[in-house]
Amino acid sequence: MTLSTLTHIECAACGALYDPNQLLNLCPACQKPLLARYDLAKAAQTMTPAALATRSPGLWRYEEVLPVQRRDAMINLGEGGTPLLPAGRLGEVIGCPNTLIKDESLNPTGSFKARGLCLAVSRAYELGAAEVAIPSAGNAAGAMSAYAAAVGLPAHVYMPRDVPLPFQAECKTLGANVTLVDGLITDCGARVREGVQQYGWFDVSTLKEPYRIEGKKTMGYELAEQLGWTLPDVIIYPTGGGTGLIGMWKAFAEMEAMGLIGPARPRMVTVQSSGCAPMVKAFHEGKTHAEMWQGAKTIADGLRVPAAVGDFLILQALRQSGGTAVAVPDEEMMTCASLMGAHTGIFPAPEGAACLAAQIRLLEEGWIQPQEQVVLFNTGTALKYAHLWA
Ligand SMILES: *Cc1c(COP(=O)(O)O)cnc(C)c1O
Repeated sequence: MTLSTLTHIECAACGALYDPNQLLNLCPACQKPLLARYDLAKAAQTMTPAALATRSPGLWRYEEVLPVQRRDAMINLGEGGTPLLPAGRLGEVIGCPNTLIKDESLNPTGSFKARGLCLAVSRAYELGAAEVAIPSAGNAAGAMSAYAAAVGLPAHVYMPRDVPLPFQAECKTLGANVTLVDGLITDCGARVREGVQQYGWFDVSTLKEPYRIEGKKTMGYELAEQLGWTLPDVIIYPTGGGTGLIGMWKAFAEMEAMGLIGPARPRMVTVQSSGCAPMVKAFHEGKTHAEMWQGAKTIADGLRVPAAVGDFLILQALRQSGGTAVAVPDEEMMTCASLMGAHTGIFPAPEGAACLAAQIRLLEEGWIQPQEQVVLFNTGTALKYAHLWA
């Protein structure tokens, strides 16, 4: 048995409570995202800074606040434990010396999707799912395929036909059944729902099951631990479905309840592409939900999410933190990729480069002060996006 203190599952919208020991997707009552809840007082007894200092790196070190109960169901491909790199040389150039980059490209399958799918697949495996499925235009499919392969769960991936070759090749090589669909990601989602109904596949789409967010929240725990149990002034996060942003916000609340950090929070910044910016629009219009973005188009596959199931949670976190939301054009992502690359040694995915573009914009506007500590997330490796430089 692990030290997991999971107690129940709670709907983020209607507050309904569920037994955690069953496979769940959206809230059966209101079709909104479900969140995992823990006995944090109990978790705090063993997950102390001193105990953590003796544990292996990687996300399973936070097992008290993760949902997996059986040790044999903790799939481990070396996820988490990514470096938080001081980017002083880049910081000097842009006028914000205390800039750090959390380099998530070092995760298995080259993106932070590994964190979320590690937990979703581990827990689905533990609860007896027979087969897993996902509609995805990029990194999520590769990550699901990898974790399913590790335990021999059949995996079904539905991708739009125009998805770049590396993403397709990765899933196929990892043994997934890949179906290329003539259509958009929404059409892929419909095909997955058919499989769910006909064959009982388990759908691991983001925020449509409670555990991907648990994997991604470990970025928040790691960040605090790497900064000596403090948090930065500002976090800039490339937001698609928002799982990581919502996850880190949840992690901060849990850490405060466990006495690991105080009440201070970073100002959370969502960055999206000007070609698909539903959260930016909703934030600046003062809305609590986002409208579906029409004609979504961006080179940053992870940000091509026209409608996010967790939109209300993203907007809540941005507002509660005193944060903001910024849209940047794709061309700026490419110039910022070069700027970041040449001054840090990191070859960032366009999503990671978008964080730098947003930081420069917010420095110019005076929203970020030059002496503030700012953390950017490079969420993936650029190697799967080589076509952008062709
Ligand atoms: C999925 C993805 C994102 C967006 O992540 P969310 O947590 O779903 O908002 C950003 N960058 C990359 C590289 C991704 O694959």
